[in-house]
Amino acid sequence: RSVNPASSTNASIESAPASLDPGTAVSRRSDRSLTTVLSASALPKTQPLAHDAALESPPVIWSSQGQGGVPARKTSRRVRVGHLYADLLNLYADRGNVMSLRRRCEWRGIDFEVVPLGIGDRIVPGAVDLAFMGGGQDGDQAFLADDLFRVKADGIRGLVSDGVPLLAVCGSYQLLGHYYDPSAGARLPGLGVFDLHTAHPGPQAPRCIGNVVVEWGGAPNGAPRTLVGFENHGGRTFLGSEATPFARVAAGYGNNGSDRTEGIVVGNAIGTYIHGSLLPKNPHLADWLIALALDPSGTTKLEPLDDSVEWRAHETVLGRFAPSLRRSTESRR
Ligand code: GLN
Repeated sequence: RSVNPASSTNASIESAPASLDPGTAVSRRSDRSLTTVLSASALPKTQPLAHDAALESPPVIWSSQGQGGVPARKTSRRVRVGHLYADLLNLYADRGNVMSLRRRCEWRGIDFEVVPLGIGDRIVPGAVDLAFMGGGQDGDQAFLADDLFRVKADGIRGLVSDGVPLLAVCGSYQLLGHYYDPSAGARLPGLGVFDLHTAHPGPQAPRCIGNVVVEWGGAPNGAPRTLVGFENHGGRTFLGSEATPFARVAAGYGNNGSDRTEGIVVGNAIGTYIHGSLLPKNPHLADWLIALALDPSGTTKLEPLDDSVEWRAHETVLGRFAPSLRRSTESRR
């Protein structure tokens, strides 16, 4: 894997991790299956296969400078991802979002670091360039609610007002609204960063579960507008009258299964119900976040990557909905 073949250099060969024979390589052919990639020795030798430490153990403080990853070339570019409640909020492979951000930075020679922000950890202004929070069961949400208010609230509010890109998925998304009424038990107050509220209709109500396809209103010019993923939530979220949805539902439930909104966007902060994990199958969104992490003004242009595998995954999910997508698009005309 490397940046756009036309502009790639062999520099990444020199930076192959010590844990792998520098000669180990993978082809950039788009027909690579995961098995093929993992049995790299069977493939033509063009680029080093970066040893994916994160696949074997959860990233703690992880830097691409020699802690098991690809020691990136010295660059002036750096992305530090604040991963909030990594051990508590991680449903449906949400951790894969951080792995996708790491790999897409590494492949571009951008230094990458995960700053774990668990219970008791304060968010120090200027310490992270991007924040990520995953999904959780009602019980996990209740468990961290106190810390969210007492320890993290000011830091999260500061990140959003400073334009630091933030991605909050499902359970964390709900807690950044005004409140979440869970399936049972007391109301969970939210930080009010997002103008929305969420109510779970109770344990007997059907959950919003399944693959989801949405149309991303803020997609960069020239990028596809679809996003695909998986959702599983009981809570139904309703946006404030002035709030901007992150996307429009083309197939699936979205915020509440009725108004066809999905998520919310506030500046560079996104709340969404889309698990999956979201970013590996939506490389254009991953790059949108990385570009903003490098420069919140949104002027950074990233080198294109060979995303043929990622788009194959994206289109596989789209393909499951193609007929209904055409119907739902026509019905909105
Ligand atoms: N517990 C919340 C709900 O059921 C969030 C679930 C999640 O994060 N997947 O709506």
